[in-house]
Amino acid sequence: METRIELIQGDITKLKVDAIVNAANPSLLGGGGVDGAIHHAAGPGLLEVCQLLGGCKTGEAKITKGYKLPAQFVIHTVGPVWGVGDRNEEMLLANCYRKSLAQATVHDCKTVAFPNISTGIYHFPKELAAKIAIREVRNYLAVNSIPEKIIFVCFDAENFAIYQELLSQ
Ligand code: ADP
Repeated sequence: METRIELIQGDITKLKVDAIVNAANPSLLGGGGVDGAIHHAAGPGLLEVCQLLGGCKTGEAKITKGYKLPAQFVIHTVGPVWGVGDRNEEMLLANCYRKSLAQATVHDCKTVAFPNISTGIYHFPKELAAKIAIREVRNYLAVNSIPEKIIFVCFDAENFAIYQELLSQ
């Protein structure tokens, strides 16, 4: 596996990294899944600042501090819901990774952890989502020295197995 990409199975809220990425919804006011876990672990300070951000469009990313999280920053990105709208889901998911990585670079985040954006409540097919995630991260790292390291954090065993297979290729 590449030295700048790491794969783990676990809970992203526990990671002491420069930034964790949140698979948020357009309101940025919390929700279920990883979003709920991040807000729960970060405490009310995160919700307060998110209320000032004016939401976030699908495929875009906004950054806040991590509050009570071990991570210094949270990069909030809104993944596409699979199977609705203008069928632009693949491009929008790629944008989530690119825009999140760009936020990380601007804020000098050397270590960044990503969840499997859109593969939970938003029902994006897991293998296709993983291919897009890995492609975008590899492309970005090839031309940017910051972040130095990306950690793909899989919560479920199915995603973990998919990433293991794809990253070995
Ligand atoms: P989305 O609405 O973008 O699909 P979800 O939070 O429902 O967001 O799911 C995105 C991914 O995050 C899923 O693969 C889910 O298993 C995973 N996930 C849920 N909780 C956590 C957590 N605490 N840490 C890391 N990943 C998580």
